Amino acid sequence: STDSGASVEPVVRSPFVDVPIPSDVSLVGHMFDDFGRYGNFTALIDGVSGRRTTYAELQSEIVRVASALWRLGIRKGDVVTLFSENRPEFIVMFLSLAAVGAVVSATNSVYTSGELAHALTHAKAKLLIASAENLDVAKQAAVAAQFPLKDVIVLGEAAGFRPYSALLQDDGKCFPENLDWDPREDLVALPFSSGTTGLPKGVMLSHYNLVANVEQTRTGDVLNYISGSDVLLGVLPWFHIYGQVVVALSGLKAGASLISMPKFSPELFINVIKDHKPTFLHVVPPIMLFLAKHGIVNKDDFSSVHTLVTAAATCGLETSREVRDRLDVPRIRQGYGLTETSPLTHVNPGENYRYETCGLAVPNTDYKIIDVATGKDLSRGEEGEVCVRGPQVMKGYFNNEEATRKTMKDGWLLTGDIGIADHDGHMIITDRMKELIKYKGFQVAPAELESLLVTHPAVADSAVIGAPDERAGELPRAYVVLKPNLHVSEDELQKFIADKVAPYKHLRGGVEFRKEIPKSAAGKILRRILRDEFAEKNLSQ
Ligand code: AMP
Repeated sequence: STDSGASVEPVVRSPFVDVPIPSDVSLVGHMFDDFGRYGNFTALIDGVSGRRTTYAELQSEIVRVASALWRLGIRKGDVVTLFSENRPEFIVMFLSLAAVGAVVSATNSVYTSGELAHALTHAKAKLLIASAENLDVAKQAAVAAQFPLKDVIVLGEAAGFRPYSALLQDDGKCFPENLDWDPREDLVALPFSSGTTGLPKGVMLSHYNLVANVEQTRTGDVLNYISGSDVLLGVLPWFHIYGQVVVALSGLKAGASLISMPKFSPELFINVIKDHKPTFLHVVPPIMLFLAKHGIVNKDDFSSVHTLVTAAATCGLETSREVRDRLDVPRIRQGYGLTETSPLTHVNPGENYRYETCGLAVPNTDYKIIDVATGKDLSRGEEGEVCVRGPQVMKGYFNNEEATRKTMKDGWLLTGDIGIADHDGHMIITDRMKELIKYKGFQVAPAELESLLVTHPAVADSAVIGAPDERAGELPRAYVVLKPNLHVSEDELQKFIADKVAPYKHLRGGVEFRKEIPKSAAGKILRRILRDEFAEKNLSQ
């Protein structure tokens, strides 16, 4: 036993009482259970125009748009790609698709046409819904993926395409009231994640998974989470699971008001806060850094805010303290989770939180730490791979049984993160063993950049790692072996990649030329060696 006398039982159970999770209801059925009650309260606020939508209006819009989607032939199990920045229609569309049983595959809204074409093909999408701002990229992607342009719906207006407003004209009569739901089996979302290794994969999340995480997240009494009087700032993208479930769905289920922000800019962020006085801010570490350091940030503007939650990547203890001292926000809490866990598995509770930790397992959730080499369970305080178990854990990866098998073992999800379970149940993330790079909280899969690099005629081999960076967390950095007698410059390779992928995947960490890429006997890239080498070089400079 430990000094404190705490148990060394390897499985750390959530200290919170289990919450009931209905297993017989669809996601929208679950949301609608409360929307009626919230009636004329504000559900959505367009952060740019200020336009408000009440819960009664939101419900009516969902019924009409879902009915229109049904008339278009969208049925249970159809995958629909949603390619949009945050705007009120995103929420209506997401829930309307869910209501007809479609599987929403939301992609990053800054994808290039090549990335979007790949997402459409990979997910076998039946419909593409793109915001007017993204329509040019969407058109190019549709052509590249041989996707019929008639199956593109536009959020906003654009000549020649079916606009969202046309769907809203529907009388709602085809809204499917009673689909034959099997909430544990029926998928509702298919976001992408590279998991512990390789290329991005579709993550199969069921209605039950999302209903579970909404319930686990909003359990007011224990976690002191979102309440109906809260005003939430939708600055994190709703295409990413954190913004989608922890902010938008959990907020709406609780009856809160949700402000949409199409993107982050310091001016817009501050103006929206001044205009709409949010009470609860969900952010990522780069926004924490902005709050700690940026000259535009003024304590008085934040007087309405009672809670700040940061997640999606490590937030330094110092940064949290600086934000606390600068803004006087009563609660600053860190959360942890993955796309594969819908996402939330840990959060600092309302009281007694400790900034350096990701907090306690949320209700109905267990975790444990295993030895990286042997897979054996470790005791409290010992460092190893974090494994989680709970109703929010995905069904598996789409069309990829091998990756599913490697990630889900004996009912546990292996996260690929390294951490410690503290004597009192708090979890501390200390490192990441999986290949994944996180740039400002966004996933960058090294395998994707490596496979693009070797398509350059002068490149024989490559490896990509995350180079530590204070502002972004990590920067994608490439190691390249050239073919004999061929040459390409660092700049040329950076531009070669920049032409093909979204800005957050650009090789901002630089390109280094080498004679060979360190590999294991089995041919696996030894990224750890490159990471250590880079750290050492930086220390000695
Ligand atoms: P995503 O699927 O994009 O949500 O990424 C999940 C990954 O983000 C996790 O496996 C972690 O590597 C990282 N992550 C999320 N939250 C935290 C946190 N609070 N501290 C450290 N890493 C985190």
